[in-house]
Amino acid sequence: MSLSEFALIKQYFSSVGGVEGVALGVGDDGAVLDISPDQQLVVSVDTLVAGVHFPQDAAPEDIAHRTLRVNLSDMAAMGADARWFTLALTLPQAEPDWLQAFSEALAEDAQHFGCALVGGDTTAGPLSISIQMMGTVSRGQALVRGGAQAGDGVYVTGTLGEGAAALQVFSPGCSYNDSQREVLLKRFYRPEPRLTVGRKLRGVASAAIDVSDGLLADLGHIAECSGLGAELQLQQVPVAPWLAEAVNPDQLQSWILSGGDDYELCFTVPESKQSLVDGMIHRGELLATRIGLMTSEPGIVCLDAEGQVQTVARKGYQHFN
Ligand code: ADP
Ligand code: MG
Repeated sequence: MSLSEFALIKQYFSSVGGVEGVALGVGDDGAVLDISPDQQLVVSVDTLVAGVHFPQDAAPEDIAHRTLRVNLSDMAAMGADARWFTLALTLPQAEPDWLQAFSEALAEDAQHFGCALVGGDTTAGPLSISIQMMGTVSRGQALVRGGAQAGDGVYVTGTLGEGAAALQVFSPGCSYNDSQREVLLKRFYRPEPRLTVGRKLRGVASAAIDVSDGLLADLGHIAECSGLGAELQLQQVPVAPWLAEAVNPDQLQSWILSGGDDYELCFTVPESKQSLVDGMIHRGELLATRIGLMTSEPGIVCLDAEGQVQTVARKGYQHFN
C-alpha cells in the first residue's frame, strides 16, 4: 500500500535526531531553530521538478521566479525575514543561455525580496531545482500552524483559485483569452510571497500557513496542529471577479478549496486582536478577508450563504496519491 505524503513524513522523518535548539521541528512551513538569545533561524526547503511542478519547456526565468517565490512563501507563513538561500540545481546539460536567463531572474528576485544566494550544489540529471531558504525572526515571534484557539477568526490574503486555474493554461483546448492567460501565467510563475503581511502579523495572528495545497487542506493543517476544527463561510472566500465570471461555480469551488498553488496566507486572529486586524483591512494596510472561525469540534465544516452545511470532498494536493 502506498503511503500519503503526510503519513510518510510522520512515520519516517518526524523524530530523527534530538531536540536541542529545535524550537519547532518537522510539521510546519519552516523549522524554528535557536541561534542566539534574541533571534531564531527559520529554515525550509522546496523542490520543483520539471514536468511535475512546471512544464518541461518552461522558460528559465519563469522557473527561477517560481522556485524562489514558492520558498519565500514559507518564510512569509512563518512571519520570518528571508535572509539567505542555497540552490541545488540538477540540469540535463549546461546551456549558457539557459543559465544566464535563470541566474539573472534569480538575482532580480533575490534583490527584490532582500535575500542572498550563499551556496548550493550542481549536478547533471533530469531538470530539478531545490532551494533551501533561511530567514530570521525575533525569539518567540514566529507564526506557527499550531497556535490557534477556538473562537479565533480565520482570514486569507488576496484571492484564491487562480493557482489551480493556471494549470489549465498548460492543457490542450484551454478556453481563456490572451489577457486571462497572461494573468494566470503571471500568477503561476510569479506568485507574490506575502512577506510584508507575514511581518505585520507577528504578535497579532495566533496561527498561519501558506495556501499551497488548497484551502481545505491547509486550514486543516492549522486545525489539526491546534487540536481544533473550523467553520468556513464559503461565500466569503475571496475570488477574482473575472475568474468567477469565466468558470462554472462547481469548478471554481473545487479550485478554491482543493486546488492549491495560490501561495496566499491563511491565518487566525484571537478575538482581542480582531478589531486591530479589521481596522488594518479597512484602511487598506492589509489585503485580507475574514472567511471563518476556529471551533473546538475537529474537522472543517463548510457553510453556504444561508448558514447550511455544505458537503465538500476534502482533497488537497498530495504527492504519492
Ligand atoms: P510546505 O507545503 O509548507 O512546503 P510540506 O507539505 O512540503 O510543507 O511538508 C510538511 C512538513 O513536513 C514540513 O514541516 C516539512 O519540513 C516536513 N517534511 C517534508 N518532507 C520531509 C522529509 N523528507 N524529512 C523531514 N521533514 C519533511
Ligand atoms: Mg508552506
